[in-house]
Amino acid sequence: MPMKDRIYWVMSSIGVYTVKSGYKLAKIRKRKEEQRGTRAEHGCSMSWATLSWNSVWRMNMKPELQHFIWRCLNGILPVNALIMDRCSKGNFLCKCCGENPETIEHLFFFCNSAQEIWKTAPLDWDGLKNFRSKFWLWWEEMKDAVREEKGRERIELTVHLLWQIWKSRNGVQFNNKRREPVVAVSKAVLEWREYMEAQEEGDKAGWGLIARDWQGEVKGAWAVPSTSCSNAKVEEAKALRLAMLVAKQNGWRRVEFESDCLQVINDINSTNDEAVRCTVISDIRKLKYRFDECCFAFTKRENNSVSHTLARKALQMECPAEWKECFPGWLLELAHADCKGSCPFFSVSWIAYH
Ligand SMILES: [Zn+2]
Repeated sequence: MPMKDRIYWVMSSIGVYTVKSGYKLAKIRKRKEEQRGTRAEHGCSMSWATLSWNSVWRMNMKPELQHFIWRCLNGILPVNALIMDRCSKGNFLCKCCGENPETIEHLFFFCNSAQEIWKTAPLDWDGLKNFRSKFWLWWEEMKDAVREEKGRERIELTVHLLWQIWKSRNGVQFNNKRREPVVAVSKAVLEWREYMEAQEEGDKAGWGLIARDWQGEVKGAWAVPSTSCSNAKVEEAKALRLAMLVAKQNGWRRVEFESDCLQVINDINSTNDEAVRCTVISDIRKLKYRFDECCFAFTKRENNSVSHTLARKALQMECPAEWKECFPGWLLELAHADCKGSCPFFSVSWIAYH
């Protein structure tokens, strides 16, 4: 579950950080810096913020991570020293070590907690030690590695590590919970791998979702195009996660989810934490608690023909399609054949086209 920031964000009227208010602050900062002539100091015709901005958006990573790096580069990540500086609120010290002002640089490079994470990580940037006094300067140097062999992958993994350092920090800051460095590192590596794998095969894929009520009546159907991933299990789990979000959006509180991938259902239902080999499964386990009643069951492919057909249709689509209230004849016919009177479910299917 995403953690709620309890920080008052001075740039927005409602006191919480929004992208719009982030842009506003970045703009003001940029203008100030230009006035101070820092552009000339860095010897480039574009400001460093613009350069870094472009480099961030060209990177192959989740938009959430791109936005996170962008906030770091623009000095607007809400670290304690910045909040103190902007709103004279809170404690400017780093809660992880309790010794130093929490600046972005302290958070990522100098705090003991961060250093432990870097020591455990499968890569190092020891050659950039001299650039750590300013995060953006370090970033500018680090991203030059893109020209080296496997450089792009290293940079992308680095972003995942920075993100996990931030997450570990938030755990201490807001919940007084410390995470072992190895947990942060394995989470970074896992998420990075999953994302890479999903990108590797650019083939098309499709998800099909169908929702029924307890009488077996169709309540909604969705065909969602996606890019295929090398791991079919992860894709099936993603389709299930999507079904859960759709169910939540529709206000359905008691839901049974079905999938024709037995392994995914077993992983979700297992009480063993070892089964959480992918972050999607752990998302599903967390989402489960947002329902009054929610269970997961396996269904045979033969009994799942509507969602399978929807998944196949999604392959031909550019944008997701949704049917509610009014359904095409073929869908109702297949739904009737699948249901055979007594098996109400929200079932999902995934198909890849290679
Ligand atoms: Zn610290």
